[in-house]
Amino acid sequence: MLFKDAAIYYEKLEGTSSRLEMIDTLSELLSKSSSDEIKQLIYLTQGVLSPSFEGIVIGLAESFAEQAIAAATGYSKESVITAYKKAGDLGITAEEFCAKGKLKRISQKQFTVNDVFESMRRIARTSGQGSQDTKIKMLMELLSASSPLEARYITRFALGRLRLGLGDATILEALSKAFTGSRDAKPVLENAYNICSDLGTVGETLSKKGITGIEHIEVKLFSPIRPALAERLPTAEEILEKTHGECAIESKYDGLRQQIHIDRKSKKVEIYSRNLEVLTPMFPEVVHAALDEISAESAIIEGEAIGYNESTDQFLPFQETIQRKRKHGIDKMSRDVPLTLFSFDIMYLNGKETMSKPYSERRELLESILEKRKMVRLSDRIITKDPKRIDQYFNAVIEDGLEGIMAKDLNSRYVAGARKFSWIKLKRSYKGELSDTLDLVILGYFLGKGLRAEFKFGGLLAGVYNSKEDTFETITRIGTGFSEAQMKSLKKELDKIKAKHKPARVNAAVEPDFWVEPKFVVTVRADEITRSSMHTCGVQDGLGYALRFPRLVSDGIREDKSASDATTTEEVIEMFGIQRKSKLSS
Ligand code: ATP
Repeated sequence: MLFKDAAIYYEKLEGTSSRLEMIDTLSELLSKSSSDEIKQLIYLTQGVLSPSFEGIVIGLAESFAEQAIAAATGYSKESVITAYKKAGDLGITAEEFCAKGKLKRISQKQFTVNDVFESMRRIARTSGQGSQDTKIKMLMELLSASSPLEARYITRFALGRLRLGLGDATILEALSKAFTGSRDAKPVLENAYNICSDLGTVGETLSKKGITGIEHIEVKLFSPIRPALAERLPTAEEILEKTHGECAIESKYDGLRQQIHIDRKSKKVEIYSRNLEVLTPMFPEVVHAALDEISAESAIIEGEAIGYNESTDQFLPFQETIQRKRKHGIDKMSRDVPLTLFSFDIMYLNGKETMSKPYSERRELLESILEKRKMVRLSDRIITKDPKRIDQYFNAVIEDGLEGIMAKDLNSRYVAGARKFSWIKLKRSYKGELSDTLDLVILGYFLGKGLRAEFKFGGLLAGVYNSKEDTFETITRIGTGFSEAQMKSLKKELDKIKAKHKPARVNAAVEPDFWVEPKFVVTVRADEITRSSMHTCGVQDGLGYALRFPRLVSDGIREDKSASDATTTEEVIEMFGIQRKSKLSS
């Protein structure tokens, strides 16, 4: 497929304001690609060069791209900068300059999707001395043989700003439609995606081997599994009812979720975060402990890494553990805040997946490979049928400084990538507040008035993720909880992702001063969930859900969550139910 043909579809997608139309357009594009290029096409369309766990990112500096545009079109860099300031989008500037270029197109070669993808990968991989000039030259070569529309998307891609606004679920639905004629195969595709975490691989397998191939996608070492998520329930009685009268109750540690892959033969260990980025270089002591303490030829285990002081038997607060997520000063930090991994699951052992085994068997396997239990330990737990015992355990862990408990259904498999009742969380609550915080997606922002006018920032329009529709629905306007520094840095980040119109996957009745692409997540605490006619979260017959007294509690943007990891509409409805019950019982 020629890249110029893909660019026409990208332009169409950009102008779309409905998700269904997006699915149709994308499915048409995908159905035209061959099986040797669909993987690359999917990555390009996502605006990435690899799945997140391979970590190949492009993000070329603006000044390099400006130089490349100037060199490719025969204009000065200054004139490119002036035009960019006016347009506010370097992709549009590249398009304009290519259209009026003084230089003749160097080659008449037409790029394929694979050509563009490979060039971008080469640009991303070039490093070391003189790499800046090489990167500029490579982009210049691409641009000087591009049509204006191709130049728009190549430039945006090179900057890491393609942003066609497609969610994973939308891509899966489009794949289903492209290859089976309807959107009905989405659950099968989603299942495969939850196991391999790579939409490119899902697309390629579907194109080469059909649905049968998709059903055979298996767990693989060093290809992370999308993490299982927990539901909520308000009482021990309800937890027992949902888990057929008996369950395991584990401590809920408030640290960093880690999925650890280990292959003893090659002595390779990789640690993945909750959103499947590689964390390995940040935690040398965990890598060392994994090799020393996990007695298996190969395994994938999961746990929560948390700062823990053995001599006082005390856990460190999350704010201290999170300091370990850093790129510099790692050795010192690993000595100052050493982590203990409290393992709670196993998904793969000695060449075989274990996800399909029931929890109780998985736990036995986990116990059998962790004999030393020094730095890699087991999550503390009890098994019980007694609600009073659950309450007792809950109170004890809160006293120990933990945030609550996780109940686990003894017979349930590991449900990758989904929030199911096989895991149920119960967290401590404070009087007059919702027991849980919400992770909300920033959908827009308001200009400041009064004291806030100087920051040109008056608060955020925030929303939740509707996972059924793959859309975002507004739930609140957040005006408090920001420090001055946070306001400045938030505005700076949001200005980079401003959208010209309401993004297609946003469902809103409120209009902010500026829309932004749904990308950043912040954590918010509120006093209460109320019914509202202003917000579209869970809206039915004109009535949705909203937050009372929302305030920002995360230290700015949550780097570890992407927009689709935000609190979902279903969760809000569930939290509303829990709140109503606890009001009735108090
Ligand atoms: P939260 O902000 O409450 O951690 P979350 O949305 O990140 O919520 P949930 O699925 O709601 O994730 O809750 C499960 C989280 O709890 C997991 O991501 C995991 O990191 C953490 N956790 C801590 N202890 C355990 C445990 N014993 N078993 C499973 N998960 C645990």
